[in-house]
Formats: sequence, C-alpha cells, structure tokens
Amino acid sequence: MSQTNPGFSTLAVHAGAEPDPTTGARATPIYQTTAYVFQDADHAAALFGLKQFGNIYTRIMNPTQAVLEERVAALEGGTAALAVASGHAAQLLVFHTLLNPGDNFIAAKKLYGGSINQFGHAFKSFGWEVRWADTADPESFSALVDERTRGIFIESLANPGGTFVDIAAIAAIARRHRLPLIVDNTMASPYLVRPLEHGADIVVHSATKFLGGHGNSMGGIIVDGGTFDWSEPGRYPALSEPRTEYGGVILQEAFGNIAFAIAARVLGLRDLGPSIAPMNAFLLQTGIETLPLRMQRHCDNALKVARWLKDHPKVAWVSYAGLPDDPNHALQQRYSPKGAGAVFTFGVKGGYAAGKALVEGLELFSHLANIGDTRSLVIHPASTTHAQLTPEQQVAAGAGPDVVRLSIGIEDPEDIIADLEQALEKA
Ligand SMILES: *Cc1c(COP(=O)(O)O)cnc(C)c1O
Repeated sequence: MSQTNPGFSTLAVHAGAEPDPTTGARATPIYQTTAYVFQDADHAAALFGLKQFGNIYTRIMNPTQAVLEERVAALEGGTAALAVASGHAAQLLVFHTLLNPGDNFIAAKKLYGGSINQFGHAFKSFGWEVRWADTADPESFSALVDERTRGIFIESLANPGGTFVDIAAIAAIARRHRLPLIVDNTMASPYLVRPLEHGADIVVHSATKFLGGHGNSMGGIIVDGGTFDWSEPGRYPALSEPRTEYGGVILQEAFGNIAFAIAARVLGLRDLGPSIAPMNAFLLQTGIETLPLRMQRHCDNALKVARWLKDHPKVAWVSYAGLPDDPNHALQQRYSPKGAGAVFTFGVKGGYAAGKALVEGLELFSHLANIGDTRSLVIHPASTTHAQLTPEQQVAAGAGPDVVRLSIGIEDPEDIIADLEQALEKA
C-alpha cells in the first residue's frame, strides 16, 4: 500500500493482500493445497529448521490463511497473527504456549459459556488450572496470583451481557505481576475496541462471529502484540528455552516481537493440529472487508432496539451499555465510543416461561446459538449456551433464568422492532 498510515477501513479491505503474483487474480485465491514443492534440498532443510520462512504443509501455514493473519494483525495493531480452526482452538494454542502442567491462569467470571467450559473442564486434564476473578473488581485478579500463575484472560466486551471491561485497569495488574494479559475481542471486534492500545499483550478472536460476520465459517485468530518480554528464566520455557526439535533455537531470541505468534504456530499448531481450512480463511477475509460498515450498522440498530424495548410495558429490564442510564455506559464511552456492539440481554416480565415464549414467537429473528451474523439472532442462555453451568455460575456469567439474549443484525431496524413487537404481544 502506498499510504504511509492507512485508516481502518482501508486496512480492512487491503491489508495483507495483493494481486496474485502468478495469475493476477485480484481477490486472494483459495490455495486449496496440502503441501508446497521445495526449490531444492537446502531450501527444504532451511524451512524445517526455522532458518527461513515459507510454506511446508497446510497444517502449519497456507497462503490464503496468511492474508487473513496479516489483515487481522493490522486491524488490531499487533506484530503478527495466527489463524486457526475456531475461537476455541485459538484459546487452546494460547494456553498451550503459556502453561505447563501445574501452572494456572486467572480468567474473568463473565465469559462466553464455551470458554468457561473449556477452561474449567478440558484444560483440567492438561493440568492447567483456571482461577475465576471479577472484572468489576480488578484487584480480585491480583489476589489470586501465585508463583505458578502465567497469564490473565478477559473479554473486552463480555458475553452474553454486553458488558465493557476496564482493560487498562486489569492490564496494570498484569504488568505489576509480570503476566501477559490476553483479551478475547470477539464481541467488540477491532472496529470498536483495540485491546493492545489499552495494555493487552495478546488478542484472541472467534472469527466465526463479527470478523467473518455472515454466520457461514468457523475460524479463530491469535494476535501477538509484540509487547511482552518472555525471557524471565523458568516462566515461559516454550519461548525462553532451547527447542530441541528445531536445532536448539530459543524462540524469543530468534523471533523477538513475533515470538509468541511463531511459538503458537510451530509448537502448538504443528503438534495439536487445529488448522483453518483455506476456504474458511477466504470467506473470513472477505467478511472482514465490510467489518467497519457492518459493525456500525449493528451498533446503530442495537441502540434503536434497546431504546424501544426499554419503554415496552412487557419488558422488565434492558442491559445495553449504549443506553445513557446503563451502569456500564461510562466504560462504553471510554473504550468504545463508536457504539456498544450488537449483543445485549433483556428480561421479559414473567421470567423463564415468558422468555421462552418470546423466543418461540419471533419470526425474523433466528433462534440459534451464535452471534455476529448479518441476521438478527435470539437465544435463551440459561437453557442453552450456559445450561452446563450451575445456577450460581449462570447468574455470575450474566445468564440467569429470565435472561433473553439478542444479537442484532443489519436488517432494517423497523423490521427488527416489528418482529419483537408481535412476539411480545403473543408472549
Ligand atoms: C464463540 C465464541 C468463542 C469460541 O469461538 P468458536 O469459534 O465457536 O470456537 C470464544 N469467545 C467468544 C466471546 C465467543 O463468542
């Protein structure tokens, strides 16, 4: 790109991509290949020894995937990125790079229900312990740190309630304890919030949601902020100790401010294997080209719907940070002045039964377990996404029995409101 400092919308369309050098194709081709021919034996040896960057095998990297990675790294303001098969795969590879058996990390209680499961159940069998803290009380993270703590994990805009988190306050605590702060930026997307600018060290995404934006492809991304010093002896051995499988290379020394992204690829992705399909990398990067347009429309529509719901006699409460009297409004104004996102919760008078009836009465809204689609979506978290949690965990996660969650799409706002109106009428 000729621009020295391109804006966000320009990066969303162009970052990482150029016309295909062989065919001139303007859209990035789907490189549907498993492997790549080496120039000669020395070239092959250099690639395998990490002496030279290049394609070997699509489990580790692929040219279509590379464009997606460069684009998201640019949008988040990071040094490098790694795209993988899903958001959960991204989280797995982050913690596989940071943790050894017996280590722990501290995570916000208010998280996507699947992340609460992954951290609390699957990770336990690797010997990785999660400790839960409260983002409304940043010092609660500090109180849980011990000598085996290796990271802090939060969402910038927490699922399912749509609550903004004081990233800078938690980043300050992470710095005080020499821990990396990992931020799941799925719900906000870099159009609304760029966590690296507020002190985060690593950003993860479920690209399945707003980045792709059309509800048609799974994907996940890890963005390396390039900010963290991994060299302290004994703490992050994957990065600070010689890797025997790569001729004794020390990743932090060899790769500097992209060492984390490299480690997640050449240790985590190579050995655990959740690679992204080239087709999905293509669909996700095509989605990202319209991220700024879609995200603004999502936010504008959601604010209109939240305002309308708040005045409805059958609605008990609305929790949307974009409403001026919402307790989370000040944080929204500070971290995400362009809008408060697409996802929020509300309660119907009549609790669990009325909430379920509302979900069943909606026609334009799709009743399903996803967010960040062009289409408007609805779900009852307590009976679905958060059903595996205990009642106490459900309430702590913002998914109590009366809660209905909406992910507002980019349709005409009048039609979204009309659908809610007829469903509330029936409920
Ligand atoms: C969906 C989601 C995930 C998990 O991502 P998948 O792509 O479904 O694996 C993680 N975090 C948040 C906030 C999500 O919404």
